[in-house]
Amino acid sequence: MSFTNVRAIPSPEAVISLVPLSAEAAQTKKENDRQIADVITGKDNRFIVVIGPCSADDEDAVMEYMGKLKEVREEVKDKLVIVPRVYTGKPRTTGEGYKGMMHQPDPTKAPNMLEGLLTIRKLFIRVIEETGMPVSDEMLYPSNLPFVSDLLSYIAIGARSVENQQHRLTASGIDCAVGMKNPTSGDLTVMFNSIRAAQHSHNFLYNGHEVKTTGNPLAHAIMRGSVNKHGNNLPNYHYEDLRLAYNMYIEGGYLNPAVIVDANHSNSGKKFFEQPRIVKEVLHSRSYNTDIEQMVKGVMIESYLVEGNQNGSEPHVYGKSITDPCLGFEDTKTLLYEIAERV
Ligand code: PEP
Ligand code: MN
Repeated sequence: MSFTNVRAIPSPEAVISLVPLSAEAAQTKKENDRQIADVITGKDNRFIVVIGPCSADDEDAVMEYMGKLKEVREEVKDKLVIVPRVYTGKPRTTGEGYKGMMHQPDPTKAPNMLEGLLTIRKLFIRVIEETGMPVSDEMLYPSNLPFVSDLLSYIAIGARSVENQQHRLTASGIDCAVGMKNPTSGDLTVMFNSIRAAQHSHNFLYNGHEVKTTGNPLAHAIMRGSVNKHGNNLPNYHYEDLRLAYNMYIEGGYLNPAVIVDANHSNSGKKFFEQPRIVKEVLHSRSYNTDIEQMVKGVMIESYLVEGNQNGSEPHVYGKSITDPCLGFEDTKTLLYEIAERV
């Protein structure tokens, strides 16, 4: 086999004991899990906003962003459940480029995954302890989940992973909300099959054992638009798309029908500045039809301190995305107040 052992990785228990979560913060995390679950199950009528940078590339900039977000959250907490994106594993369309903080704790240096695991735990814990907010990330690598599952309150399965058996089976054993994105091809059947798989119990190989999962009733849909064979982005946030998802939910008999609409990616064609318009259209569709209102339980927004993304030929800008372009913080704040007013 042509694998070279670069460094040994301690067990998840050992890594957790190096960077543990305090008992108090564990309580905060549990309470946040419960609030998100209550929105998904319909016990809580608030609206989820999964929001933050495309990638959490820089601890200082991410924590500055989280501090600002926390202030807004205090003012809208009766209406919104704010779920910060702290995304530390990035899928790359060609496999090339920055793979996230878990691979490269310093984006300018060589990969170091042990350092990466410790660094992302520290960052997740800082968000929980310093802001009281939940943490969300994409589960890009199911085998890495045991290193961080005690810290995450919302997990997304990405568009490139949602058809993968290991992701689906692992999602079935997760005890927080898991959003399954539609695949990049846009076939909603793939997303719904994934939700079905995640909502059921399975036996499989995981973390050195044959395990049996309970099934995750909180597995739900994230609609992120698609790309056609010509490489054009096709949105799926319009009223008709939401109705289609509603019908598929009802016909399939799933637990807890819920959709989060991702306003960036192929829904905006990565035109980050379109996100407020897209979110407002989704809110309009909700106000027009009660089925849609009950099913669409939130939105996902890519946002950071500075709008746009880094332009490789210019010097690095602090707080600007190194992956997908994001909404800047001032526009984010305006949008969050608007969402809170309209839901
Ligand atoms: C993301 O959320 O940044 C992401 C990579 O999403 P998707 O899987 O929808 O491309
Ligand atoms: Mn992104």
